[in-house]
Amino acid sequence: MTTRLHIDWTRCDGHGSCAELLPDLLGVDDFGFPVPRSGDRDPAVARRDQDAARHAVRNCPVMALRLFDAPA
Ligand code: SF4
Repeated sequence: MTTRLHIDWTRCDGHGSCAELLPDLLGVDDFGFPVPRSGDRDPAVARRDQDAARHAVRNCPVMALRLFDAPA
């Protein structure tokens, strides 16, 4: 199984704090919206980033982030 990060674009309003917490996983576009560096819609979260990803999920001000497990 692979842990992946889902961004709900209907909620995200581009605060960008998730990209600050997950710089290897997310960049930001010109408007401050997170952009998965891998190009995947739901990017895989490396084991070393999983604590930071959980922190990002808890701290997203609009609850737009979710972690889920999917087949690799
Ligand atoms: S922290 Fe939440 S609202 Fe802010 S950019 Fe990330 S997903 Fe969007």
